[in-house]
Amino acid sequence: MSQQQFENFTASSLYCEKCKAAMPVRERLLLVLPDKEIFDYLCTGCGSSVGRREITAGEKLLAEAMAGGPRRAPMSVRLQ
Ligand SMILES: [Zn+2]
Repeated sequence: MSQQQFENFTASSLYCEKCKAAMPVRERLLLVLPDKEIFDYLCTGCGSSVGRREITAGEKLLAEAMAGGPRRAPMSVRLQ
């Protein structure tokens, strides 16, 4: 079971100080840099920002591979 690992990639709910509860969040792309992307997490209850996350290019590829995205990373690469 790798549930904890999975949670590193998707934060579905975060604690909101305004709502005083763990609320479902909406991910919003805040900033795109050459080597990483910064996401803002907004509470779906009150709309305030409850968190922020930086995704490096490597992490993004990994997340896409896990989600079965367009780029599928090979499990092993054989060089010859
Ligand atoms: Zn809230």
